[in-house]
Amino acid sequence: MMRIHPVIVVALPGAALALLAACSEPPARPSPATPGPPAEPAPTAEEAARFIEATESELHELSTDNNRAAWVASTYITFDTQILSAAASAKLLGAMTRYAQRATRFAGLDLPYDVGRRIDLLRTSLTLYAPADPKRTRELSTLSSKLEAMYGAGKYCPAGGACLDLQALSRILAKSRDPAELERAWVGWRTVSAPMRDDFTRLVALTNEGARELGFKDTGDAWRAKYEMPEGALPREVDRLWAQVKPLYDALHCHVRGRLAARYGEEVVPDARPIRADLLGDMWAQDWSNLYDLVAPEEAAPIYDLDAVLKEKGFTPIQMVKTGEQFFVSLGFEPLPATFWERSLFVKPADRDVVCHASAWNIDDEDDLRIKMCIEITADDFQTIHHELGHNFYQRAYNQRPLLYRDSPNPAFHEALGDVIGLSVTSEYLQRIGLVSELPPPSSDLSLLLRDALNKVAFLPFGLLVDRWRWGVFSGEIPPSEYNAAWWELRARYQGVRPPVPRSEADFDPGAKYHVAASVPYIRYFLAHVLQFQIHRALCEEAGYRGPLHRCTIHGSARAGEKLRRMMEMGRSRPWPEALEVVTGSRQMDATAMLDYFAPLKEWLDQENRGRTCGW
Ligand SMILES: [Zn+2]
Repeated sequence: MMRIHPVIVVALPGAALALLAACSEPPARPSPATPGPPAEPAPTAEEAARFIEATESELHELSTDNNRAAWVASTYITFDTQILSAAASAKLLGAMTRYAQRATRFAGLDLPYDVGRRIDLLRTSLTLYAPADPKRTRELSTLSSKLEAMYGAGKYCPAGGACLDLQALSRILAKSRDPAELERAWVGWRTVSAPMRDDFTRLVALTNEGARELGFKDTGDAWRAKYEMPEGALPREVDRLWAQVKPLYDALHCHVRGRLAARYGEEVVPDARPIRADLLGDMWAQDWSNLYDLVAPEEAAPIYDLDAVLKEKGFTPIQMVKTGEQFFVSLGFEPLPATFWERSLFVKPADRDVVCHASAWNIDDEDDLRIKMCIEITADDFQTIHHELGHNFYQRAYNQRPLLYRDSPNPAFHEALGDVIGLSVTSEYLQRIGLVSELPPPSSDLSLLLRDALNKVAFLPFGLLVDRWRWGVFSGEIPPSEYNAAWWELRARYQGVRPPVPRSEADFDPGAKYHVAASVPYIRYFLAHVLQFQIHRALCEEAGYRGPLHRCTIHGSARAGEKLRRMMEMGRSRPWPEALEVVTGSRQMDATAMLDYFAPLKEWLDQENRGRTCGW
């Protein structure tokens, strides 16, 4: 439900169902030979069908109650709303537990596709798995809230100075160009995660136990099951996609390191070595946008300043959302319901605390769509609005499906959807809607592409390695005694970054990332980055666009809209390759669209890098 820039988690009904207690006993399968309590009649397909209908109906009610309570808890943060929200969530989880226990009764039965699939989805929509023992269930739930709270309340208090929270430390990482100050902020934030290590270790053991009770090998296995691929296929697929984009990442890495060396000197940024992680403008070195001024082409034409344009034109938050809505309407989608405008939270209230992280909601899983954002008049928020509305339009597109199908075919599709629209927010589109009066010259393409790449290309290896690390942790391949060393081995191997100061097993650097502290799976973001370009390219073709991919906007194309809607309406009713095929004609993920999009930049980077020693 929370948005941590630039990766965004959507508020789906499934998102609330984070914790599931496994079966408290083995599935009851009375054998006629064994005397005992009166045996239940053998399960039948008819019973399974009735079961899943009744389950969805109760879950729908509980999930709506839970969403309402969570909405109020996020938009009026008070002592009581937190308690009411926790109670609603516990009630929903209790029901999930009972139904998951009950569902094991139908294992192995020959069921109609839509009955069997929904029974399976009951099991895989969760992210933490509580063991049967109620004491351990409570322990896991306590640990998970504690870790998230440690992160949320985390502050670094330097000796003799004021305490700094993540926002303040991130500002330093973004703006400072003083290596000593950067190092202090970077190390400072990691004093927050070091004490998480023991709780995290215990959480891993407990959730693994619960996952095994549900028939998974470990929690990583359960997370990968959301992608419905044969054993080992998802990690292989991720490797294949990474190999496709690695030359582009390497070229960007080489250029950025060259410019950083020019700025900070060879001593701080030596050749042929990973880059110091605190120099990249972001707490996790996952988004390098803040380095734009350091690495921009010297001769490039200036790029328009959308921030300034929005302010100049006197845009209000509502107008920004209306503009985003109009994009979807231009593709043939129905405008958002009146209740969206009445019930959403668009601006930070002056008189109370709210959770400002942007998120998209469908309270009743039908038409009660909302966004919750503290909109500021910036280009960043303009993009985020398109992203969040992508979730809302998706949620509405599949709302006629059975409840357990009201989701994207895997978590990456939901994240990719809004960004697909974001890729169409081009100069030409902005001109079309009257936001910029003149198209920037083609010579400014390079600057625009570099700005995008610092965000989207730089993110890829980080997006990949967070769950690489957790898969290893959950499987036991990475034991607690090597948590931090393994983390830095992956950071060096994939990202080509290194810590500014030596790290040890007294540290717990993975916990300095929200999604690790809060147990949110991460590989979806890597895949969403690949998918958004692939879907963008397919829709541009459908719209009849011919030209460089980075200049394509699908705005106004009913044909592209129709194709997109067909995929969205499927929800989770079929495995993801079928949904991908509807929109792209291919059942395979493919990162070549990303390479096409950035091709002019790659050419320029290769020229810039001539004479540099690349790699690490
Ligand atoms: Zn999102």
